[in-house]
Amino acid sequence: MDYPGNLFVVAAPSGAGKSSLVKALMELDKQVQPSVSHTTRPPRGQEVHGREYFFVSAEEFDRMVLDSAFVEWANVHGHRYGTSKAGIEERIAQGADVILEIDFQGALQIKRIFANAVLVFILPPSWEELRSRLQRRGEDSADTIELRLANAAEEVAQAPNFDFVIINELFERALFDLKAIVHAQRLKFSAQRRARAATFQALHIP
Ligand code: GDP
Ligand code: ADP
Ligand code: 5GP
Repeated sequence: MDYPGNLFVVAAPSGAGKSSLVKALMELDKQVQPSVSHTTRPPRGQEVHGREYFFVSAEEFDRMVLDSAFVEWANVHGHRYGTSKAGIEERIAQGADVILEIDFQGALQIKRIFANAVLVFILPPSWEELRSRLQRRGEDSADTIELRLANAAEEVAQAPNFDFVIINELFERALFDLKAIVHAQRLKFSAQRRARAATFQALHIP
């Protein structure tokens, strides 16, 4: 199905800078809207229920799975995370661009459901830098950081299954790259014909 809005899916090993990049993109481009996932992980210091995530109990998550409330869900770093159906299809059908920050398992599920979804993988410049970013962020315990680093190699190995890859070395450069991907989708023939219908008609383009 060809919707007027785009679905962007951003995945990365923890600490690569996915949340920072997506947040900065949404501050610059109000047409890009987030999808707020549900998770059984406890909130970090600054996180707000309904903003970064809907924080739910394992029982509540089970209930949502049984109710088929998720378009995808996965086990990540010992917790469950899911994208609820609410809103995604409606929003892209209305022309909004929706961005999902989810793990690679979820990204591949989304691509099977929405064939036109644009999959973006964020890589850190090196393993050393990934470790130091997780430590500098200062939000996770030492054990959690080790678990996330241990899972990172398996995650990075999935990068070839994605449409685009950004190496987040210099933040502003990586943000420019992410903006370029979003912009390019809007320049596709089908998108331009929809957005600039009068011009196309005047030029007699079928
Ligand atoms: P969160 O978004 O609250 O989870 O916090 P983050 O740790 O992800 O990022 C905090 C803020 O710092 C965000 O507004 C980012 O855009 C910004 N930020 C993070 N890293 C960099 C960087 O390397 N350079 C610049 N210029 N800004 C950054
Ligand atoms: P993720 O969402 O992928 O787990 P975050 O966006 O939380 O990652 O970024 C992890 C840490 O690295 C944060 O403290 C963030 O400020 C920092 N960071 C992000 N991008 C860069 C960058 N290009 N250079 C240096 N630090 C960065
Ligand atoms: P964090 O706990 O650092 O916010 O996220 C941990 C991992 O879970 C990240 O790889 C993140 O992309 C992933 N994640 C967050 N929300 C979802 C979701 O709704 N579905 C899936 N499959 N993964 C998610």
